Amino acid sequence: MSDGKTIFKRIIDGEIPAEIIHEDEDCLAFKDVNPQAPVHVLIIPKKEIPSLAQLEESDAALMGHMLLVIRDLARDLGLENGYRLVANTGPDGGQTVGHLHFHLLGQRPLSWPPG
Ligand code: AMP
Repeated sequence: MSDGKTIFKRIIDGEIPAEIIHEDEDCLAFKDVNPQAPVHVLIIPKKEIPSLAQLEESDAALMGHMLLVIRDLARDLGLENGYRLVANTGPDGGQTVGHLHFHLLGQRPLSWPPG
């Protein structure tokens, strides 16, 4: 039974396993199950926000907090040569899970432009 929850909400609620590498009161970071780079981590808010498009002014501090967590994760994961942060948003953005998430990708050169 999915009871309408996204897969990421189920990870937040501890209903399905994930390789969690950071957790605090407001956000969670875990390894992507289908990694596209040697480092591929997803960072999600615990608050159920479908995508960047639904952000509210009151989410500003949460977003700032998440970016600082990402800065620290990148450093702790050894990404001193650089990395990419991606937030696929909506159908044209290629978003497949309806819970806001940032992809942190690194430890290989990443091409540009994306597909
Ligand atoms: P997006 O296409 O931007 O919505 O990204 C969704 C990401 O979630 C994809 O990279 C998937 O590989 C990843 N993903 C889906 N289910 C899981 C899961 N149970 N644990 C970890 N990553 C997942």
